[in-house]
Amino acid sequence: MAKAKLTIQFGTKDITIRCHKCKGLDFDIPREPKPEDLITCLGCGESGPYGEITTAALEKLHQKRDEIISVLIRGGKTTH
Ligand SMILES: [Zn+2]
Repeated sequence: MAKAKLTIQFGTKDITIRCHKCKGLDFDIPREPKPEDLITCLGCGESGPYGEITTAALEKLHQKRDEIISVLIRGGKTTH
């Protein structure tokens, strides 16, 4: 286990995940995390399985992207 930032790949971007409780960026993460490995926030001690955290984060990112797309369609007036 080592102090590290938790990042996931989303498309071509690396997204850094924050702790949902304290917004901390430092986690105790195994060098090669497996889905069932526990990730612990060094700020508040909150922990969860690596697989669940990354899956939830990806879902949120997808939702956010859908939100942006739907807003753009709803407000879809051409400017020229
Ligand atoms: Zn925390």
